[in-house]
Amino acid sequence: MSISMGSTSGDIPLILRLVHDSTGIVNVAGNIVRKVLQSGKLDIVDKGTDDLQTKADRAAQVYITQELHKKFPLASIIGEEGDNLTENLDDLVSPVGSPIQANDLPLGEILSKSVPTDLSSIQESEVVIWIDPLDGTSEFTRGMVEHVTILVGIAYNGSPIAGVIHQPFLKLGEKFGRTLWGIPRIGYGGFTLAAPSKDKKVITTTRSHSNARVEAVLESMKPDDIIRVGGAGNKAILLMEGKCNAYVFASAGCQKWDTCAPEAVLAAIGGKLTDMAGQPYSYSKDVQHANQGGLLATAPGEDHDWYIKQIPK
Ligand code: AMP
Ligand code: MG
Ligand code: MG
Repeated sequence: MSISMGSTSGDIPLILRLVHDSTGIVNVAGNIVRKVLQSGKLDIVDKGTDDLQTKADRAAQVYITQELHKKFPLASIIGEEGDNLTENLDDLVSPVGSPIQANDLPLGEILSKSVPTDLSSIQESEVVIWIDPLDGTSEFTRGMVEHVTILVGIAYNGSPIAGVIHQPFLKLGEKFGRTLWGIPRIGYGGFTLAAPSKDKKVITTTRSHSNARVEAVLESMKPDDIIRVGGAGNKAILLMEGKCNAYVFASAGCQKWDTCAPEAVLAAIGGKLTDMAGQPYSYSKDVQHANQGGLLATAPGEDHDWYIKQIPK
């Protein structure tokens, strides 16, 4: 392993250690994803209609799960690609394309946050970590790599309490990779928060998984512009950076690992993510993985309920 991440322990609250360590872990997972792409051997498996898995999805999940398990052995970890994965990581973790180094990450900043009393007593065994090792696989296989994110969502008592979103193909200066994080009531970082325009209604939605219902609901909201891009993480970032007012997907298809991290980061900045009826999803370890009620996410300052009221009965 050529990228060192340091370690945390001691008196630092668990929630901060989870985000700190996940930030380092996704940075290395981003390297794995780039390395698989560079190898040209994606080794694609079709999991069903419109649902692909590549060697990058598998290897990133193996790495993230193994590292989180080492650091948080009592936490429940649920990854999109299941439990019985084997991928040899030996030739995938060495750096490719000048990755961000551990000492460039905002790790000290995360650990210095103050934590409200109710969040400082969280037990590791009650934490559920939802992992999407590669969100936007459809786009990844088509070379649209800027849509790809790696998502680590942390839940407690059924609610997302922290999220980490990594963009392996975003190039900052000479270096690849950006990590965005958010902890509701505690803080956020890795990006510049911006509010979307109030003069125009811009909605982001799926690029590759649309259907008649998705289009009818979008139409009902009379958007000035629709941005069709891949990935739940990618679309959440558009909201965080003020490029869209809402993310609307009135269909089943997204799953808990797609929405846990985005929901947490959005909540940390004053945004919101629910199903299309405005109900929050539960992220307890025994919930159904599918988000059957669709997905409505809004940027800070948006009237979430307004979008729900527009939906045709
Ligand atoms: P998209 O906005 O289409 O990129 O979808 C966001 C996330 O939900 C991705 O992880 C997709 O794989 C997943 N997803 C959404 N709709 C479907 C679907 N119809 N079939 C399989 N996966 C889907
Ligand atoms: Mg996904
Ligand atoms: Mg995925």
